[in-house]
Amino acid sequence: MDFGFSPEQEALRQEVKQFIEENVTPELYAEIGGDDEGGASPIIKELRRKVADRGWVGISWPKEYGGQAGSRIDQYIVEEEFARAGIGVGGAGSGAPAILAAGTEEQKQYFLPGLINGEITLALGFTEPQAGADLAGLQCQAVKDGDDWVINGQKMYTSSAHYSTHIYLMARTDPDAPRHRGISIFLVPMDTPGITVRPLWTIQNNPQAPRGTTYGTARTNETFFEDVRIPESCLLGEVNRGWYVGAMGLNLDRVGASRYLISVQRDEDIINWVKENDFDGRSPAEDPAVRDKLAELWIEAQVCRLMTMRSMSIVEAGGEFTYEGSAEKVFAPEHGVKTSESITQMLGPYGSLLNGSPSAISDGIYAHNLMGAFQSGINHGSVQVMRDQVARRGLGMQRA
Ligand SMILES: Cc1cc2nc3c(=O)[nH]c(=O)nc-3n(C[C@H](O)[C@H](O)[C@H](O)COP(=O)(O)OP(=O)(O)OC[C@H]3O[C@@H](n4cnc5c(N)ncnc54)[C@H](O)[C@@H]3O)c2cc1C
Repeated sequence: MDFGFSPEQEALRQEVKQFIEENVTPELYAEIGGDDEGGASPIIKELRRKVADRGWVGISWPKEYGGQAGSRIDQYIVEEEFARAGIGVGGAGSGAPAILAAGTEEQKQYFLPGLINGEITLALGFTEPQAGADLAGLQCQAVKDGDDWVINGQKMYTSSAHYSTHIYLMARTDPDAPRHRGISIFLVPMDTPGITVRPLWTIQNNPQAPRGTTYGTARTNETFFEDVRIPESCLLGEVNRGWYVGAMGLNLDRVGASRYLISVQRDEDIINWVKENDFDGRSPAEDPAVRDKLAELWIEAQVCRLMTMRSMSIVEAGGEFTYEGSAEKVFAPEHGVKTSESITQMLGPYGSLLNGSPSAISDGIYAHNLMGAFQSGINHGSVQVMRDQVARRGLGMQRA
């Protein structure tokens, strides 16, 4: 068994690295620094278009929808390099796997090419004030009215809703059905009358935070729906089957290079820092405790990577993907938190200083990342919920 990449894949990686070196410059980081427009900033859109022109987004998608009918491992390589550069332009984000699997021909023709070239961005509208870990308790309602659906309710933590073109929305369409069976998914244009987006700032809201290797979200949102009228064509998949469409999409979206790198990139950064810097002439790389800790973190990072590669291979081979994404979504975020905590311990008190302090290390990136580390154990399914899924789907235990 050969775990290595093929010569063609190594060549692709080099090509992507070179593209990043030429296009993702310090000037670009400076220009996008501090804005909260994310994927909507003109400069990111322009970069995204260039990446799409190279055929590097949606590589594994069918050609008729703008993809290359290529390998998911190739997509992984592209995403890995862009995620390492701290720029999220390598993937198509949440919702895309569900559209591919459950969309009508018209929906695929409309959304998939737009997601590839960045003209369409989808916010994820699942969580509500009373429905997070217990998502099936959601109350946002969609009621059929003639040929239309009318939506009323509130969504929480709708990251990117302030610049997305559409929201991938889970709503209750049959209040009398068992909880999981009365739910449907809609692809709702964000400019539909009746939608209001309000910011929710996270602990990581530091406009001066250095770009490049940060992770976590500075802004997420609350989104309100008041008599939002949408046509039937916005329904994704069968009515009242949205739970299953959504779960499949979420599961697939939990694996991939960007998610894995969110958790392990800190290891690469700190290893480089420790090798290149010293404290008053004393290299931390000579401290046995630091060396031991870094070796331990690096080994765990390799486990994260292998878990990701396993999931990718299963999907690539058309196999059944059940608990693997959940297992990864436990191990990797917990590794990311451990790494961030270990780094600030290794760096001592200066490691906790944020950008703006003259004594901050690397512009406060490690302190900033420590604050953001905890998000990944909660968003996209908390580690507690993921553990329960591993117990049920991986170990065959009954629902608790
Ligand atoms: C930065 C950020 C971005 C996000 N972006 C999005 C987004 O774009 N779209 C979206 O829809 N959602 C998003 N979320 C929401 C996220 O998916 C929820 O926060 C998550 O599902 C937990 O829900 P909750 O916050 O309501 O916490 P709760 O459901 O109240 O849970 C609180 C804690 O209790 C634990 N818990 C709850 N029930 C159980 C149980 N039965 N057994 C064991 N432990 C349990 C949970 O695991 C969690 O640790 C985001 C969250 C964050 C923090």
